[in-house]
Amino acid sequence: MLNYTVDGEGIATLEWDYPDKAQNILNHASMTTFVETCRMGLGDASVKGLLVCSAKKDFIAGGDLAELAGAHDAAAFHASIGDWHKFLRALELGGKPVAAALNGSALGGGMELALACHYRVAADNPKARFGFPEVTLGLLPGAGGTQRLPRLIGMQAAAPLLMEGKRINAGEALKIGMIHAVVTGGEERQAARTWLLGAIASGERPLQPWDRKGFKIPGGGPNTPHGMQMLMAANAMLREKSFDNYPAPKHILSCIYEGLATDFDTGMAIEARYFTNLALSPVAKNMIRSLFFGMQDANKLASRPTGVAQQKYSKIGMLGAGMMGAGIAMSTAAAGIEVVLLDTTQEAAEKGKAYAAKQWGKQAARGRLTQQAMDALLARIHPTADYADLKGCELVIEAVFEKREIKAEVTRKAEAVIGSDAIFASNTSTLPITGLARASSRAANFIGLHFFSPAEKMPLVEIIVGKATSEATLARSMDFVKAIAKTPIVVNDSRGFYTSRVFGTYVSEGMALLEEGVPPALIDKAGLIAGMPVGPLALADEVSIELVHKIAQQTRADLGGAYVERAADRVAAKMVVDLGRLGRKSGAGFYDYPADGHKHLWPDLARHFVQKVGAGDTATPTLDEIIERLILVQSVETARCLEEKVLRAPIDADVGAILGWGYPPFRGGPVGWLHTLGLPAALAALDRLARQHGPRFAAPQLLRDMAARGECFHG
Ligand code: NAD
Repeated sequence: MLNYTVDGEGIATLEWDYPDKAQNILNHASMTTFVETCRMGLGDASVKGLLVCSAKKDFIAGGDLAELAGAHDAAAFHASIGDWHKFLRALELGGKPVAAALNGSALGGGMELALACHYRVAADNPKARFGFPEVTLGLLPGAGGTQRLPRLIGMQAAAPLLMEGKRINAGEALKIGMIHAVVTGGEERQAARTWLLGAIASGERPLQPWDRKGFKIPGGGPNTPHGMQMLMAANAMLREKSFDNYPAPKHILSCIYEGLATDFDTGMAIEARYFTNLALSPVAKNMIRSLFFGMQDANKLASRPTGVAQQKYSKIGMLGAGMMGAGIAMSTAAAGIEVVLLDTTQEAAEKGKAYAAKQWGKQAARGRLTQQAMDALLARIHPTADYADLKGCELVIEAVFEKREIKAEVTRKAEAVIGSDAIFASNTSTLPITGLARASSRAANFIGLHFFSPAEKMPLVEIIVGKATSEATLARSMDFVKAIAKTPIVVNDSRGFYTSRVFGTYVSEGMALLEEGVPPALIDKAGLIAGMPVGPLALADEVSIELVHKIAQQTRADLGGAYVERAADRVAAKMVVDLGRLGRKSGAGFYDYPADGHKHLWPDLARHFVQKVGAGDTATPTLDEIIERLILVQSVETARCLEEKVLRAPIDADVGAILGWGYPPFRGGPVGWLHTLGLPAALAALDRLARQHGPRFAAPQLLRDMAARGECFHG
């Protein structure tokens, strides 16, 4: 865990070297070892100074999230934090100089440990990052970070680093004073030693700035005019952005405000309480589960079928050079894979490549891409109208028009050219994969790869397994998604698959609320307060109300008598057919889109959907009721997807929702939210909503069975 040596000049080196891991992490075992070893050094008269460093390529990556996720006993957790705080104080006040040599990244608890050293020197390592990412997982820097950093560099500079989790490089860290020096890589230990020997020779007692007499917080504390102004503005901005859904940044701000108004040790005690509160909160548990472990497993392809050799990709075919085709081609080229970009004419195919050139050009203009790198990327995209060019492709993805006949035709033409073991994938957003596979002469190699728009940016790919799709095709397709650095979830074939189906319920519920007479401004604001990135009516405009209408018509035609009309169908028909308002693309939907200004709600909506609020109608739902409906309608549909085995694993639902349509991570995901409520409470709410609003809220049997057995989704 830790290599300990003492040299002839009395410098004890404590080299972190966590066994069997690529990174050093802080957990009970590693921290205990470190504490014991430091105590040994501090207590040894022959030791004059301590050097903390790492044997790995980075310094310390942060806290052990598995251990944090498993913390359920507040008193025990608080006590262990208190012990670590006390130890760090003993290190600072131990009378011997302590220096940290940061060869690579120091993040979270790793950076906090470095802050508790008297001197920090970093290697000039372009890959190294420094910062406090805790907030991105619902936590705060709980090892003194909220107290040491603002006392070191001032509240103004510290607040964004602590509250937003931004990671900075060595040069930036030096500039703001978070570290003392940057030296050529490989010389950081020597630089730390030189500083230690100087400190020892000076004979002065080493002290942190905040422990020196007459210490003043740089830029002023919370009770100075400047401090008050900064804190008030930060508080208001935070509230505006987060609607108080995320307790972590708020608690961090409280730690700064309350902690810096008092002495250092009281500040640490304040931080320990806020940290304990967060670490045991459902929000942190949800964010750690979905954003960290869920995504890590998805990216590692944890659910990939075993026994299938890994597929390497060198050349793929992209049919359709439209919005999606061009975006997928960009992601593929960026992964170093050649792309044949095919459309009906050479000109149309070139248009797709031109889109890529434009997007990359913007990055080049911002200095994020060199001209040479951009040329190399573009050279991998080969526009064509000739199917013969698809020869040798390991995979062909079609993103042509959403028409069965056209998709069938391009499937046949491509299969006539590509090898017999090549995969054919469809990027359809609505057409069941099993049906599309009928056009294929090798349905076992046919699969759905559903990308999101803009495909060059959106990280999720929903992989859809048709009835005939083989496990090998699934495994090899997952390899492709990983190769292009996207995150896959795997679902079984069904109308709307998983993402479109559940995302659609959010939009539909917003439209149902409109029909009930709830003011549209309240509906969309409720969506935002619920944590969704866009309100349901604004979202309907974005995806187009016409599309909502078309999908409803198609579903009605497909299901015949079994189709149950929804309020959203009536609202969409009225908007599209009666009022000619198709959504944003037509410049008119639930919102108006003036050419010279900001969009705003269409004032005439009130005439066409009579609003009941303010008319003394007690039946008008409250804000909380609207939020509950907008959120639980997604959860109940997700539970149906699990019951129908459209989803293979609950965590896929959560990862897919967060990455696919910006579902609020603090709730964990549509399943994570059921888990947070607890199944008995969730069932009670769904039963009540089903009585009030109909069967769309009716809980599937799966939830009742699980509740009866006392089970929950996430262990
Ligand atoms: P688009 O209209 O921008 O592009 C379609 C392209 O396909 C056009 O360039 C067209 O010329 C080309 N094309 C048509 N027939 C062809 C043929 N026979 N051979 C070769 N090329 C042909 O459409 P898009 O938004 O890129 O969508 C494409 C597919 O992706 C659709 O199936 C759509 O449902 C699906 N999809 C779209 C989105 C989205 O948000 N736009 C998201 C996920 C999936």
